[in-house]
Amino acid sequence: MSSRVEPLLPRFASVEKVIERLKPVEPVYVLHPGRFAAAAKRFIDSFPGDTLFAVKANPAPLVLDQVYAAGIRHFDTASLPEIELVRGRFPDAICHFMAPVRAPGSAKAAFERFGVTDYVVDCDFELDKLLAETKSPKKLRIFVRIATPLGGAVLELSSKFGTTPEDAARLLKRVAEAGAAPAITFHVGSQCLSPFSYAQAVEMARRTALLSGVEIAALDLGGGFPGPYPGNDVPPYHWYFDTIREALQTFGAKVPPVLCEPGRALIAEGMSLITQVILRKGDSLYMNDGVYGSFDELTLPGWTADYHTKSFTLDVKNRALPLPGEQRPFRIFGPTCDTLDVLPRPLMLPENIAAGDFIVFEAIGAYSVAVRTSFNGFFPDNWAVVGN
Ligand SMILES: *Cc1c(COP(=O)(O)O)cnc(C)c1O
Repeated sequence: MSSRVEPLLPRFASVEKVIERLKPVEPVYVLHPGRFAAAAKRFIDSFPGDTLFAVKANPAPLVLDQVYAAGIRHFDTASLPEIELVRGRFPDAICHFMAPVRAPGSAKAAFERFGVTDYVVDCDFELDKLLAETKSPKKLRIFVRIATPLGGAVLELSSKFGTTPEDAARLLKRVAEAGAAPAITFHVGSQCLSPFSYAQAVEMARRTALLSGVEIAALDLGGGFPGPYPGNDVPPYHWYFDTIREALQTFGAKVPPVLCEPGRALIAEGMSLITQVILRKGDSLYMNDGVYGSFDELTLPGWTADYHTKSFTLDVKNRALPLPGEQRPFRIFGPTCDTLDVLPRPLMLPENIAAGDFIVFEAIGAYSVAVRTSFNGFFPDNWAVVGN
């Protein structure tokens, strides 16, 4: 199940080998196929429904290939270009248009050109527009998004989208009256460290369904499943799936079919990033990647995970060796001329680190590549594969 481009990528036995062979002066994204496979397997084996990959977390074609090769066939797409990207690459993929606000005409194109039948709304305006553009309500499954309380997530996603249970119940009735299949969705927030947040949200969905009086055709539990970053005390995944399974029992004899839309959890671990120190000035390091490149998420307010890095130096025999020495804090600047291009917290590194040494950031797959810019001419886009 290899992809079209991946066989052309350089393949190495380890990250050290990448450093020894390429001595990269530009950042290199390293893909670990085994880690993508393991992440997908957790969901495929244990989530009690369909698993959709949320494309926004990492839309790089080489990463989509990994997710597809790992067995994921459903994609949470939030725009027409994302649908075109996924279906252009995997004609048998099933796209679900799970953004509650859509540009005019995009639902029409998604429905007519790609046969997309799942949509989300959280207000009358978007529901009216969706029904007017698709004109075939009986073929649609329309998810009404409810806002969930601020729970165990590091990044909340309910102040922008989602409505109250009462308003959602009214919209569900409208969906049913229009002839479409009424369904419910929510997103507990990204990097959610509490499995119980899902149980709370399922309970809100159950009460919303009850209020509406209509039978729910599906329940979409959104994304939010965490990446395994050090310093975040991430609970074991089975706690999430067990909690979700138990919460679904409260629907009694009528447990609706369920879906989930993990982004981060399917792709965070699969990617590491090799960066190089360009200059050391005292305790400041000037790196070849920064917050306008791969490190945007590390600057978000409330982001609590520790930096997860390893550092290497090339010895006289061209071997990449872990840097020895005591650890001490360094300020990490990116390569652009902008003062804001700096990590908000110091990084602990061996005291002898110098220009030309390498810092490898682990578990960097989520919201890195997806939001990188070419500000000041720096656009990280070199790729390599480690392992099979
Ligand atoms: C961002 C997003 C996701 C993915 O969230 P993760 O926290 O990366 O799992 C899923 N669904 C929707 C609607 C989103 O906006």
